[in-house]
Amino acid sequence: MPVSQKRQLNRSAELQRRAENLLPGGVDSPVRAFRAVGGSPPFAVRGEGAYLWDADGNRYLDYFGSWGPMILGHAFPPVVEAIQHAAANSASFGASTPSEGDLAELVIDAYPSIEKLRFVSSGTEATMSAIRLARASTKRDYIIKFEGCYHGHSDGLLVKAGSGVATFGIPGSAGVPDEIAHFTLALPFNDIFAVEAAFAEHRGQIACVILEPIVGNMGCVPPVDSYLQALRDITQREQALLIFDEVMTGFRVAYGGAQELYGVQPDMTTLGKIIGGGLPCGAFGARSEIMDMLAPLGPVYQAGTLSGNPLAMAAGIATVSHLKEHRNEVYARLEALSAAVADGVAAEAARIGLSLTTNRVGAMFTWFFAANSVIDFESAVTSDTATFARFHQAMLDQGIWLPPSQYEAAFMSTAHTMDDVAHTISAAKDALQGLAEKTR
Ligand SMILES: *Cc1c(COP(=O)(O)O)cnc(C)c1O
Repeated sequence: MPVSQKRQLNRSAELQRRAENLLPGGVDSPVRAFRAVGGSPPFAVRGEGAYLWDADGNRYLDYFGSWGPMILGHAFPPVVEAIQHAAANSASFGASTPSEGDLAELVIDAYPSIEKLRFVSSGTEATMSAIRLARASTKRDYIIKFEGCYHGHSDGLLVKAGSGVATFGIPGSAGVPDEIAHFTLALPFNDIFAVEAAFAEHRGQIACVILEPIVGNMGCVPPVDSYLQALRDITQREQALLIFDEVMTGFRVAYGGAQELYGVQPDMTTLGKIIGGGLPCGAFGARSEIMDMLAPLGPVYQAGTLSGNPLAMAAGIATVSHLKEHRNEVYARLEALSAAVADGVAAEAARIGLSLTTNRVGAMFTWFFAANSVIDFESAVTSDTATFARFHQAMLDQGIWLPPSQYEAAFMSTAHTMDDVAHTISAAKDALQGLAEKTR
């Protein structure tokens, strides 16, 4: 779309006004309301490959991919067919289906640290249940998480969380009793001394350390060298469990997730997003000895009416089996596309003289409007969010939809092309030029 042709959002604005009377903020998940970037959020009506269309007929190149699941692009034909086929046989049974075993086999084969897993309907449920299991299996109450990591919206995990919690600058959430928050020790990411100090202070009381092994929810923040291995060593020594929340990174940064990429095996893993192929799905897994503590075998209760839903399983199997079959091409392609766009835009910013820090691991990246390197939450929040908001708006006006917050990672899919990348870099050049002129 030429820059001169101003995007019309009449229908979306109308839909937003209606939604605001029906849903708080007009949304079912806060960041969708565009409060951090301003402007009326486009209402999505269709997606195909790397593109989205809104209710006014505007087309966008999609860089958030439903926040991660759409790694093969929108309406990928094998996924659509799998969902249609499953739906024709009934959307739900509330009884066991063969497809749960099929997806479980695929996941367990890809993640050697997992011997058994349980499916749930969201990433939130996966991490919440993993924490309960970790506490039961260690008979300890405290948990360690990291500032800026987001593990869904269960009470104890919202303390100093990332994603929307970081976007709106709230320290946690109202409605979480202090008595619950008390058991969550929130430490700076990438700081192994803070972890040592917490274990020294609470010796024998810490059930687990949970983290996003590559953080996506304060923007993309990779682990520093040997950080994950150090966490592995400390948790082993202290007999606490190490939980990798790979809801975002699983099947994204590598087929076997961050644990394959960095060669560090956690005790427990949580998954979501990609394993549901765009349908509601999550999972948590570990070695059998831990997982067999779940009901009906053990004393830890966990259940779900729609857990292992046949449509979600079908979409997950179609997605994961495609990734498995084309593993080498898929991850090489995602790496090449993502490197090209992340570095291309960074180079334009450098040429113009704007401070931009680019963090990237595979098809997961963030352009921070920050002068310093971003290694934790403290450095992430030095970003100039007002400038990010203007950049976001300028990109959207050129038909490129980035995640609507400085503190969310961007994603690419196998449906993106090098032409899309070239178009993005040229749009970013214009957008950044505009910002530079304004700030001068
Ligand atoms: C998205 C996400 C979650 C929460 O998953 P939902 O399906 O939104 O509940 C948890 N952890 C991480 C790392 C995530 O990126």
